Amino acid sequence: MNRKRLYRDGSVFVLRLLAYAALVALLVTGAVWLADHPGTVMVEWLGWHLETPVPLALAGLILLTGALLFLWRLLAGLVRLPGHWRDGLRGRRLRRGYQALSDGLAAAAGGDRREATRLAGKARKLLADPALTSFLSAQSAQLAGDADTARDHFKAMLERPETAALGLRGLLKQALERGDDTAAADLAARARLISPGDGWLLDLQYRLAVKAGHWSDVQALITEARRHKTISPQEARRRTALLLTARAEAAAADGAWDEVRSLGKKAMAADKGLTAAALLLARAYQERQRPRPAAAVLEQAWSHNPAPALAAAYAALKPEDEPLPRLRRLEKLVAGKPNVPESHLVLAEAALSAKLWGQARKHLLEAVSLRPSQTPYRLLAQLERQEYKNEDAARAWEAKRAEAQPDPTWVCADCGKTSPDWHWACPHCGALDRLVSGTPKLTAE
Ligand SMILES: [Zn+2]
Repeated sequence: MNRKRLYRDGSVFVLRLLAYAALVALLVTGAVWLADHPGTVMVEWLGWHLETPVPLALAGLILLTGALLFLWRLLAGLVRLPGHWRDGLRGRRLRRGYQALSDGLAAAAGGDRREATRLAGKARKLLADPALTSFLSAQSAQLAGDADTARDHFKAMLERPETAALGLRGLLKQALERGDDTAAADLAARARLISPGDGWLLDLQYRLAVKAGHWSDVQALITEARRHKTISPQEARRRTALLLTARAEAAAADGAWDEVRSLGKKAMAADKGLTAAALLLARAYQERQRPRPAAAVLEQAWSHNPAPALAAAYAALKPEDEPLPRLRRLEKLVAGKPNVPESHLVLAEAALSAKLWGQARKHLLEAVSLRPSQTPYRLLAQLERQEYKNEDAARAWEAKRAEAQPDPTWVCADCGKTSPDWHWACPHCGALDRLVSGTPKLTAE
């Protein structure tokens, strides 16, 4: 290989040497020939007279050719010059356009509508690329409250792959603002094609699917969110439990109690403290005349999450019960979590109905010591009147009640408003799974 190259390089060198020698020989021969054949060149032209020896004329000719070549190159360079000049101008124009674009975006982010609009116009003119300047134009139109113009600009951004995602997002936010859930779901699905693992988009799609009651989509979106790790395994389980509960609720509305039972069981397996699932499952058993598993479900749910609605459902399992047997049954319900205010209040109310004053007082005082809210004080006042007809003592408890904190209820962690029952979506702001048991904030309204 190397040897081959060596031979080739060697032969090239030899060839060049030969050519050089031939050239020198030719020149020498030419010079000798010229010396042997002396003469002059004579030119007569337009009254000019030139007479010169042949070697000098030849040298002059060579010089003239060189000068002409040089002149030619110079002219060609000059002809190309406006192109370079134009390119320079265009570069400056683009630079100024990008400057206007970035300044405009900053102005729009700062909420300066007039400056944003001015710079948007400038960037549009300098860059002449709608896909590029549309975002700023859309932003300034939005600041000016011109939704239609903003929409046109966002649509222009869809033309270019680099800006399509941003354009879709702009259209999506507009759809959400005007409450067009169908359009929003469609745009979110298109945006997900560009960025499949986007947590915000996944969450939005999930919320829209829940709101629309598209349960199979909800399930698919929980799986997707888990696959892209935008939600924790616990959150995925919780969402699955809520989905199963919603499906059970729909089945209950159709009276399909076997389906309610199967879905309710799965929901409770995914989240044992889910009151809504427990109530549905207990109801499904009760509808099939099976009070025993119904009671067991409510007892289990109480031990995880003692919600008053469970006690009401438990008492309703045997509505014909006399007060005393009912008290005995409720003691069984709260056995899994006896030392919480809710358990003491359930037993206190049942004891009051059964006229077991001593037991009622014991549970009410326990409840007050655990959580001094309005209900135990109200029941204590009732007890004083029923047991001893002691109006003064009753008034004293009522005075305390007036100053006590409200009883816990369902409070939305997002909007802070309260709801008497638990719902997947907050009835006030629509936030999903944000209702938590708590004390409502006392606001001066
Ligand atoms: Zn809310």
